[in-house]
Amino acid sequence: MKAVVTGGAGFIGSHLCDHLVARGHRVTVLDDLSTGSAANLSRVEGSPGFRFVRGDVLDRELVDALVAEADTVFHLAAAVGVYNIVDNPLRSLRINLHGTENVVEAAVAHRVPYMIASTSEVYGKNDADGLKEGDDRIYGSATRSRWSYAAAKGLDELIAYVHGTESGVPCVIARFFNVVGPRQTGRYGMVVPRFVDQAMAGEPITVYGTGTQRRCFGSVFDVVPGLLRLMETPEAYNQAVNLGGHEEISIKGLADRVVELTGSASPITYIDYEEAYGEGYEDMQRRYPDTSLAGRLVGYRPERDLNDIIR
Ligand code: NAD
Repeated sequence: MKAVVTGGAGFIGSHLCDHLVARGHRVTVLDDLSTGSAANLSRVEGSPGFRFVRGDVLDRELVDALVAEADTVFHLAAAVGVYNIVDNPLRSLRINLHGTENVVEAAVAHRVPYMIASTSEVYGKNDADGLKEGDDRIYGSATRSRWSYAAAKGLDELIAYVHGTESGVPCVIARFFNVVGPRQTGRYGMVVPRFVDQAMAGEPITVYGTGTQRRCFGSVFDVVPGLLRLMETPEAYNQAVNLGGHEEISIKGLADRVVELTGSASPITYIDYEEAYGEGYEDMQRRYPDTSLAGRLVGYRPERDLNDIIR
């Protein structure tokens, strides 16, 4: 099989390339190296049929030419990370919206099965206490640019879904929930690599907010095989499927765990969300994936626990 992986030099994309190449597939990566790195591809570079193309998913002709030669497309290229999105709101929006449109339209035109990477953020904040004016995600300062990520990913899902149902070309929508593992960078705000980097450097571990917010981290070594099985499962086509972990922890608990496992002497400090990300920033209190659909479709059962992930 010939696969195109957009964002293949990134964290999840490069692990996906490792799996595809190990299975004997011919892989073309399209990546602009904005947040990814060529070093992430060192395992697959030089493998038969492997090709790296440095380019932009906004380049419609390039995307079309690469997809035309492929048997399947995995679209992971995106502007990611809170810092990146807040600092570059317009470019992030363009990549996350039109980049996906380019990939999906090329896949449908050439009848190539495709997968798009979506996010838990499409579920929103899930506030239980009602909706107040001024509390929306569209117009409020820092939250506005941050929300562009979730809003674009939500529209990406619709673009993928509507094209998939109208054309009959197989399409999988994967909603990732806090995927972590080797090669993920903490530079753009991702909490696990950031805490580990701080602990290893003996610097203070900086918890944003109160640290009572709860998250559930999924190992890339569980998520990527799950993703590949979904692409091989016709019952998964045209469905949005959650992929993530199962062990929930508070961010303060995560900081304690990182200190314990790294044997670091780093103190744990707290800073406001607004100081970390800018005025008006808020975050959801709890994010825990229901992965029962992936369980039913492909027997998805995350095996790595948080200690494995941190190690
Ligand atoms: P990543 O930053 O490591 O990977 C994204 C890759 O896309 C990078 O290699 C980057 O250089 C590339 N890229 C960005 N803009 C591009 C452009 N215009 N043209 C070509 N390449 C471009 O991040 P990741 O964590 O591996 O995320 C992969 C996908 O999964 C993204 O679509 C992201 O939105 C989604 N996702 C990830 C998580 C997570 O927990 N890691 C959670 C939800 C969704």
